[in-house]
Amino acid sequence: MFTFDKGIRLKDRPLWIDASNGVAQCCVSHGHSDHIRRHKLTYATPATASFIRRRLGDIPIQEIDFDQPFEIGPYFITFLPAGHILGSAQVYVQQENGPSLLYSGDFKLDTGRTAEPLRVRQADILIMECTFGYPKYRFPVREELEQRLCRFVEDALENGQYPLVYGYALGKAQEAMKILADRGFSLAVHGSVLHMAEVYSRHGIDFGHVTRFRKNDDHRGKVIILPPQARHQKQIRALQPSRSIFLSGWGVDPGARFRYGVDEVLPLSDHADFEGLLRYIDLVNPKTIYTTHGPKDFYLYLRSLGYDAHPLKPSGQGELF
Ligand SMILES: [Zn+2]
Ligand SMILES: [Zn+2]
Repeated sequence: MFTFDKGIRLKDRPLWIDASNGVAQCCVSHGHSDHIRRHKLTYATPATASFIRRRLGDIPIQEIDFDQPFEIGPYFITFLPAGHILGSAQVYVQQENGPSLLYSGDFKLDTGRTAEPLRVRQADILIMECTFGYPKYRFPVREELEQRLCRFVEDALENGQYPLVYGYALGKAQEAMKILADRGFSLAVHGSVLHMAEVYSRHGIDFGHVTRFRKNDDHRGKVIILPPQARHQKQIRALQPSRSIFLSGWGVDPGARFRYGVDEVLPLSDHADFEGLLRYIDLVNPKTIYTTHGPKDFYLYLRSLGYDAHPLKPSGQGELF
């Protein structure tokens, strides 16, 4: 049904899913830069299309809503919410009298505040990401993580420190903005984060009172939301006294805070944890599984559980925030 050639290519069609190079036609699961390329024609959800345009300019995109099957003969394709970031989709492919295929894209099972909740469909073939495919990656429940984030901010403010919250500029940072805005904090937000947050606002996510972070403004009493690369900027280092927190699933690793050079790392992730990966497989109930974007030996673990599992290709995705 598919081959692997610069990504997942559906057989007998110049049609790919999340291709790694520019191709003729491509379904793009979501707006993170490791998934978007300049294709001759991109199929994406409206929110993903907006993120792509913000990153790549005006390229040809056909916008397709969730749950609206469209036909690229002989395939019927449906985007289903993946719960990862706003607009993120799993790609469900059905062929008449043939097997069905579900491509997970990046996904998470817990319901966040800024992404459409995951909705799974059963399929014969599952191609899934397994970023956190080691048993040590178990994330605390969402409410606990949200509370820890809010407590971090309250403590810093009470101590007269600037609370610096670092998260990937698309997805994680907006989730942090929403968690904190819903608790009534006022936010000063880095331009790159705000640029993507505008798309969220257009899709009905209300961030309350937000100001753009500017070097010479008075930011006392505010939570400062920043992308990871801002850690090294002079103007950010000059904010003293401060306390910093980095939002990443890799926070489960001991010593992550030294790696990121921050005071704390909170494992608030937009990916499934190890348990979540297994729960997802249970829900999809596939006959065959292909794994991608994660530890190479996750497929061997699945085989030990009795699944017909294979690596999609022998490589890892590297580090994701
Ligand atoms: Zn992603
Ligand atoms: Zn990804």
